[in-house]
Amino acid sequence: MSWEDYVRRVEPYVPGEQPNKARMIKLNTNENPYPPAPGVAAALKGIQDETLRLYPDPTAKKLVDALAERYQVSPSQVFVGVGSDDVLAMAFLTFFQSEKPLLFPDISYSFYKVWAELYRIPYECVPLDENFRIRPEDYRRENGGIIFPNPNAPTSLLLPLDEVEKIVAGSPDSVVIVDEAYIDFGGESALSLLPKYDNLLVVQTFSKSRSMAGMRIGYAIGSEKMIKAMMDVKYSFNSYTMNRTSIELGYEAVKDEAYFQETIAKVKATRERAAKRLAELGFHFPEPSANFIFAEHESVPAAELFQALREKDIYVRHFNGARVENFLRITIGTDEEMEELFAFLKEYLRK
Ligand code: PMP
Repeated sequence: MSWEDYVRRVEPYVPGEQPNKARMIKLNTNENPYPPAPGVAAALKGIQDETLRLYPDPTAKKLVDALAERYQVSPSQVFVGVGSDDVLAMAFLTFFQSEKPLLFPDISYSFYKVWAELYRIPYECVPLDENFRIRPEDYRRENGGIIFPNPNAPTSLLLPLDEVEKIVAGSPDSVVIVDEAYIDFGGESALSLLPKYDNLLVVQTFSKSRSMAGMRIGYAIGSEKMIKAMMDVKYSFNSYTMNRTSIELGYEAVKDEAYFQETIAKVKATRERAAKRLAELGFHFPEPSANFIFAEHESVPAAELFQALREKDIYVRHFNGARVENFLRITIGTDEEMEELFAFLKEYLRK
């Protein structure tokens, strides 16, 4: 026997590539093409020595209070972490202790399966229907928890709030996590259901609609009891997850509601134009509600298009796997970036 026999073996999540070229069009990891709120850059300039020298506030009170005010909940209902990945990992560790399987869609955020494996949580993938839709009735069965993104990734399809409620109401004895990484780009948040359901946890992020993927800030909002349970696990793991800069800059972003709305409106307007152009170029896709479009071409395979685009330093995402391998997930960039993408596709597809 050697130490290698006692290693935890896991198949890790594979993040999208992060190329670093002076000239590239990066539409592969659902970042926001616009800068964060102006107050964020201003606060960054004001960072003092002590921001680096001292430990941060382990409760991240300044950021938690700002989020509580923005979403009209009590600060005791807010949990913050290092991106929603960190928040979700903590939630998995906290809530999914049942012997019954955790349920999530078969086509979904591929990290769910990785956390389930890492924490040895039993799970079952629930197939989406033939139009990539989540069917709430499929989740009405014994389970040890439920998680799904809304809008779903990588499909960009939204589940209307009344359907989300059916899933939450249908499993009152398990925690249901709605991963709302993309909800700000089109859809009604499940936050409004919180007063009715104490088994609901809503997770959101600063990475997409607030243009701060590089800062790593995510949060969960749920019942006070749930948040307390997550805090206990977090303090058993790492007390200082949020660094001082993230807390300060995150606070600045939450405070600028007008800029937030303006940026979202720009991304949505570009998405509408992009959907029209892609359709003209012979692509089919589910109606997008996130900051990306999940598109399949009528004749050219996705793998081929992915490579051809990559050679021109235009990066999109391609996933292997049944039912998705002929699709490209294209993040909404600026209008100029999208124009370059369409110009290339037009030429390549001879449209
Ligand atoms: N949930 C979904 C559905 C996502 O697509 C992503 C982005 N990879 C995340 C959560 C995590 O985002 P972050 O950790 O940047 O908040």
